[in-house]
Amino acid sequence: MHPTTGARNTSLLKQIFLPGDVHTILSIPLGSFKPRDRLIWAYTPRGLFIVNIAYKLALSMNHSLATTESSDGDTHSHRLFWRTIWGRCVPNKVKAFTWKACRNILPTEANLCHRHVLSDSTCEACNLAEETSGHFFWECTKAKETWNVSGIPVVKTGVSHGTFADLLWYLIFIQHFGQDVLELTVMISWCMWFNCNRTRLGSPRKRPQEILSQARFMLEEFLLAHHRPPGLKDAMDNRWVPPAFLWYKINTDAAVFSDWNSWHRSCDS
Ligand SMILES: [Zn+2]
Repeated sequence: MHPTTGARNTSLLKQIFLPGDVHTILSIPLGSFKPRDRLIWAYTPRGLFIVNIAYKLALSMNHSLATTESSDGDTHSHRLFWRTIWGRCVPNKVKAFTWKACRNILPTEANLCHRHVLSDSTCEACNLAEETSGHFFWECTKAKETWNVSGIPVVKTGVSHGTFADLLWYLIFIQHFGQDVLELTVMISWCMWFNCNRTRLGSPRKRPQEILSQARFMLEEFLLAHHRPPGLKDAMDNRWVPPAFLWYKINTDAAVFSDWNSWHRSCDS
């Protein structure tokens, strides 16, 4: 509250609270009695912070987070999505990273800016846009260079991935990629993120080919340690799936009959 006018200090609210909370606070009507500002702990009747209550609150938040995650998977697609993510044969740190990236809780420039840790959310790699997870892993020119050398067709004209989860959803449910491609995709993503953080600490930025080599090496090393030869596709990967929208697949065959001096061709689509 402003000490003389009694009006709310909107700029201070924006510095302290998230935008949604600021909107909620500003929508609360002010009374005629205008007391001085003071800090209160909302979870005790007298507004005092008590460690014991904070501990119980943290436990209940953990419980509600677990409940939210299970309710998120209410639909079959969501359950399948998360089962596919957690079922990949990649190091646990890469699974944890994938989960964080899908939940959009990685400390991207945009998220850090939102939490008032940074004042500028512009992508340091391209300086062209805000560094969200969707930008970092897909829209950024540096990301596209890496995907291009990988050969994984995540970049198609007219397809946009707003978040990292959108990108994986597209690969799993639209492109129907098998486990080999998905494992390489999350491993490359981890390497992109890891190398970006190293760059922020002063290390030189790795070239796309170096990131790809690092991802392949780590994945092959992990697969061999877990007794699964790299590149071995399981039966599920061999099933035929229709190509994505706007793409057509045509199978052709031909045979030559020299005795009859003729040939025959066939075509399926
Ligand atoms: Zn960028």
